[in-house]
Amino acid sequence: MKILVVHTAVGPLGGGCGGGVERTLGSLVAGLLQRGHAITVLAAEGSLLPPNCQGAELWQEPGVPQPSWQHRSRDAVVEIPAGSLLAACWQQVLARQQQFDVLLNLGYDWLPLWLTPHTSTPLAHLVSMGSVSDAMDALIAQISCSHPSHLAFHTASQAGDFALSGAPLLLGNGFDLEQYRFEDAPQRQLGWAGRIAPEKGLEDAAAAAAALGLPLVVMGLVEDTSYAERVAASVASGTLIWKGFLEPAALQAELGRCQVLLNTPKWNEAFGNVVVEALACGVPVASYARGGPAELVVEGVNGALAEADNVEALVAACRRAMGIERACCRAWAEQHCSLAGFASRVEHWLQGLLV
Ligand code: UDP
Repeated sequence: MKILVVHTAVGPLGGGCGGGVERTLGSLVAGLLQRGHAITVLAAEGSLLPPNCQGAELWQEPGVPQPSWQHRSRDAVVEIPAGSLLAACWQQVLARQQQFDVLLNLGYDWLPLWLTPHTSTPLAHLVSMGSVSDAMDALIAQISCSHPSHLAFHTASQAGDFALSGAPLLLGNGFDLEQYRFEDAPQRQLGWAGRIAPEKGLEDAAAAAAALGLPLVVMGLVEDTSYAERVAASVASGTLIWKGFLEPAALQAELGRCQVLLNTPKWNEAFGNVVVEALACGVPVASYARGGPAELVVEGVNGALAEADNVEALVAACRRAMGIERACCRAWAEQHCSLAGFASRVEHWLQGLLV
């Protein structure tokens, strides 16, 4: 297939502001290239394709990025700024759609969803978040009635947020596991990775690390500076070791050195890439039982689950996770989250949409 993959319009690919969507795009493109498809990626100006996606063509568009939906109120109106990147990207898609067999949107935005019945080339959407906006919920429900096979989700917890016309297509996610080195000898430290923003609950991981008397290595882009400062002030100095946003190679090396990864979503996390990335390095995960991570973490097999928002329960889960065989974590990731498995599920979905 000739596939046009459209990245989220919140910012350039490679900079971290796209969160998990950036990794999903990398896996999806690398996996589909391996299966012999011709891929073009459309993304913001300044984007970089990951090394394993160099066989794809990259189209870049200038423009003002979209505000991310997760930081707006649920009843916020759809916002498209002057000089919009989103509008520029979708103008390109409409102008050049005839060159492709299928269009694949990874952005959580109203405009591309609304366009679904209006393109001449089939337009598919891999929805990247749960419910955060009334306007998006209503449109996803509408497209689910008119074009059910054009929507796919990562997990059942995520899809459960929406009023869908039938059973959702669940694709999980995939990772280029060769890029994650198994590490059997961790240091005396815990890890936490993700965008540093309130919906990720870093303050609870910090409190749990303080209670356990272990340092917490924090990896990720600071999206909300005042929130990061509040978290830093909530525990004794030396508890948090801030690493900033790490490129994939540095991220996996840092993850591997951790005894346990703490995962503390305060929202219905759609998937939870960092959970699988830690497992791939052999790191067990202690997570709140909420959203995608609750489907990924299997108590006693690759980690431990705690009642959501309960720091004491998280501390206990972390202690249980420390007893898990690290090789079992890696094996779980290989069995459930390979690049090849994900790419073949995506391929099967897209092939079903060809006209
Ligand atoms: N990430 C990264 N460098 C960092 C911290 C995180 O590249 O220092 C990536 C990580 O690999 C993961 C993504 O950021 O793929 C976060 O995805 P996740 O699904 O965990 O959360 P989201 O940001 O989508 O809510």
